[in-house]
Amino acid sequence: MSDKYYRDTVLEVDLDAITKNYLAIQRKNHDKTFIAVVKADSYGLGAEVVSNHLAAKGVTFFAVATLDEAIALRMHGIKEKILVLGTIHPEHINKAIQHRIAVTAPNLSWVEAAIDKVDEKYDKKVWIHIKVNTGMNRYGTSDIEEIKTMINKVNHYQRFIYEGIYSHFTSSDIEGKATEEEYNEFKRIVEAVERPSYVHIANSGGALLLDEDFTTAVRSGISLYGYYPSLYTKENTTVKLQPSVRLVSQICAIHHLRKGESVSYGRTYTASDNETVATIPIGYADGLWRQHRGFDVKLKNENVPIIGTICMDALIIKVPDNTKVGESVTIIDNSSDSDQALEKYSEYVDTISYEALCALGRRLVRYYL
Ligand code: PLP
Repeated sequence: MSDKYYRDTVLEVDLDAITKNYLAIQRKNHDKTFIAVVKADSYGLGAEVVSNHLAAKGVTFFAVATLDEAIALRMHGIKEKILVLGTIHPEHINKAIQHRIAVTAPNLSWVEAAIDKVDEKYDKKVWIHIKVNTGMNRYGTSDIEEIKTMINKVNHYQRFIYEGIYSHFTSSDIEGKATEEEYNEFKRIVEAVERPSYVHIANSGGALLLDEDFTTAVRSGISLYGYYPSLYTKENTTVKLQPSVRLVSQICAIHHLRKGESVSYGRTYTASDNETVATIPIGYADGLWRQHRGFDVKLKNENVPIIGTICMDALIIKVPDNTKVGESVTIIDNSSDSDQALEKYSEYVDTISYEALCALGRRLVRYYL
């Protein structure tokens, strides 16, 4: 646990596991450029520390969702390439130029508006990655003529550098034809236009499962942190990932209930016999769901259930009578075989690992191993 903070609930993040995942994914992808997706604060794990660690281990390219996230990384010492995957307002292009951040061009009108907004006082350039829409219908265009005109405008404007073209899979984590179709569509479009240095489409699902013959980079988020995007991906890839997160707390109070006594708000759990219950200082403000009630956490090597209503800052578990204050409790374990694996913790509340990680509360101390 931490000696810098005063709370017994800690989110341990294993940086060594993250490095191993990066290297394993890169090896599987024949040493294509590895783009570390560190948006949403590295899926909740802490973008500043994770990115600096990865940069020291050789990662040369990071991706985030927003310009603010990109600028924050620069402020925290990241000197490597950073791409904003979302669309920035054209008038913010000067901020991207100032901080040497690559941006996404979603369509022709964005390119024209951004050129219009560039401050001619300076002479620095900005890198442009063109976004191709192959089925997400979220950002980008699939119109080849429009893409050609975009490239033409970017190439003819001295302050822009045409550096990349990319798309995003809708369904690379599930079985079906969609991924192949989207890949072929991307290839068809890119082959019809000028090819830049970076051509990329694969997210974790693609990077774990496909053998792309034509791209130069992969963008990995969830797998970098040690989690498969889905069971289908896990069962069909050769890459062994190592989970990087453990959420642990300590028992801070014990109560011995008599039959008929209850616990927590609304008295939603009543002891059916004389029972011992323990309080641990973690609640929904830390990212658990109230629906985690009933989920088994690990006390020593034993599964014990969360009982009663989960509070904002605490929850109650049913424990053996000899349990002591200070004993450690694991809520999310760093082993995929554990009953407290992130996948099981997520499935219990009907969500996915991505959402469960991003939901981990900001006040949880991130303790880096
Ligand atoms: N690329 C884009 C455009 C994304 O939006 C995301 C995540 O949502 C990723 C890559 C990374 O996806 P994953 O975490 O599945 O690797």
